[in-house]
Amino acid sequence: MQPFTYHRAGSFDEAMREAARPGAALLAGGTTMVDLMRGDLAAPSSLVDIGHLPGLSEITTTGSALRFGALARMADAAEDPVVLRDYPALAESLQLAASQQLRNAATLGGNLLQRTRCVYFRNGVSACNKREPGSGCSALDGEDREMALFGGSERCIATYPGDWGIALAAFDTAVEVRGATGTRSIPFADFHRPYGEDPAVETVLAPGEIITAITVQATPAGRRSTYLKVRDRESYAYAVVSAAVALEMDGDIVRAARIALGGVATKPWRAPEAEAALVGRTLSEAVALQAGEAAFAHAQPRRQNAFKVELGRRVVARAAMVAAARGN
Ligand SMILES: Cc1cc2nc3c(=O)[nH]c(=O)nc-3n(C[C@H](O)[C@H](O)[C@H](O)COP(=O)(O)OP(=O)(O)OC[C@H]3O[C@@H](n4cnc5c(N)ncnc54)[C@H](O)[C@@H]3O)c2cc1C
Ligand code: SF4
Repeated sequence: MQPFTYHRAGSFDEAMREAARPGAALLAGGTTMVDLMRGDLAAPSSLVDIGHLPGLSEITTTGSALRFGALARMADAAEDPVVLRDYPALAESLQLAASQQLRNAATLGGNLLQRTRCVYFRNGVSACNKREPGSGCSALDGEDREMALFGGSERCIATYPGDWGIALAAFDTAVEVRGATGTRSIPFADFHRPYGEDPAVETVLAPGEIITAITVQATPAGRRSTYLKVRDRESYAYAVVSAAVALEMDGDIVRAARIALGGVATKPWRAPEAEAALVGRTLSEAVALQAGEAAFAHAQPRRQNAFKVELGRRVVARAAMVAAARGN
């Protein structure tokens, strides 16, 4: 680990000032940042601790939206009674992530900025465009079981690892940020960048910008939502495949559907083809499976991850049935 200075910010303005200095990085819960620094995957010259700043940890309902302060702990959001009742997919995505100890420390804002688990990125020595731009991508000819079926390029095929971001993608979500030029609200679909030219740049956050909140628009589909995660072991593991499904039902007929996929794409991945396969239909297991098939119709499997296509179809179908069975 490289030497660094630690600065505990006394106010939001001070945090912004310090974060704008060259080589500075923010620290919230520290569960990603410290991990990256220990692996020499990040080497900030100063860490600006914002984890204790007041006013950024509340979970509130404001009129038509649910608002999560960026410093709310994952565990608090996972156990919040309103989230549990009105947005079970959001609560489940957090309950199924990491471990209780990590969820107690980790924040919701930091969660959105966690980095890929690609082994070639993490090992610190293999060619990796994400760690060392221009060096190549070892995964293209290497182990690709964990790699993406959607959104990859010849520069990078690493999956986005988070759970909470997948559930957020099943709702109308925005990320509120504040920086030197003011505040702005970023639609969640635009927050994570496609890998395109430079896989090292993963979000549209400008240097020094701080996430202040994540807002989710209220929807009747909230209560009929679920997050289903399949992993290699029953706990404390990232998703092999996951799906978040939120449905609006009129009796057995699907009026509206939102579906997002995890473990299979380079960023939280909406599946509009799967949504279209459900809307206006009477939901049955066969129709749910058609939605699963539509979700993976354009998947680009590699040598070792083709099994995720069939698995993913079934995960989407199962999640749709679970969501529909939930009451309003
Ligand atoms: C062993 C292990 C297992 C895990 N398993 C899972 C899992 O199964 N599913 C899952 O979803 N996640 C998992 N995680 C990831 C974990 O959820 C994240 O590490 C955590 O949410 C990050 O939050 P943090 O507050 O600790 O962020 P930090 O480590 O403090 O920060 C992470 C990054 O975000 C930046 N940052 C933090 N807050 C802000 C802000 N408000 N504005 C702008 N930038 C900010 C930091 O500068 C840093 O770059 C796991 C992590 C570990 C270590
Ligand atoms: S897939 Fe992405 S993160 Fe993995 S080695 Fe290739 S460039 Fe690096």
